[in-house]
Amino acid sequence: MKAVSGEDGLDGLRAEISACRICRDAPLRGIADRLPHEPRPVAVLSARARVLIAGQAPGLRVHESGLPFDDASGDRLRQWLDVDRPTFYDRDRFAIVPMGFCFPGYDAKGSDLPPRRECAPAWRERAISAMPQIELVLAVGSYAQAWHMGASRRENMTETVRNWRDGLAKEGRPAVLPLPHPSWRNTGWIRRNGWFEEELLPELRRRIKMLAF
Ligand code: SF4
Repeated sequence: MKAVSGEDGLDGLRAEISACRICRDAPLRGIADRLPHEPRPVAVLSARARVLIAGQAPGLRVHESGLPFDDASGDRLRQWLDVDRPTFYDRDRFAIVPMGFCFPGYDAKGSDLPPRRECAPAWRERAISAMPQIELVLAVGSYAQAWHMGASRRENMTETVRNWRDGLAKEGRPAVLPLPHPSWRNTGWIRRNGWFEEELLPELRRRIKMLAF
């Protein structure tokens, strides 16, 4: 796991996650479905950040660098948030905990596989509970939306994001703001849904200014 020095009470959990080999040694669907490479969990736990970025799973480039969103998707996400790289990678500002911590490999068509199904049951509840100061969850993509939004999720990703105000109006905390995955694959989606840039992004940036600066 991406490690940043400094004791903050989370180092024990970080070390446990870093050492995780579940998908390699004990995959849920049998050894034929094992992770096709050595695990390299990539997540940033934070004791101080008030914003949690709940993404999908690392791609190959992130697997190699060990830095979350160290790719074109990350560039687009930073543009959405209106933050530069040093700000984005300051763990006092942003926690980054994807639905699967390790690069899952490719399917037969060469696309990234979905997040490993072992990961959220093994780690997510503990990781989220260890960060009670989080006030805003950015649920990036349908896997994170399913976990963080539960029954308030709509019939598909578009409708879930279109109704983004629902997650912000919820009583208690954290608030949840659904976002599409910032992948180039969603460029057409962004063009077709003009309200995303016109209405959602200004509110996202306003909240980031409030919570991360
Ligand atoms: S994806 Fe999650 S559960 Fe699987 S090996 Fe990596 S850290 Fe462990």
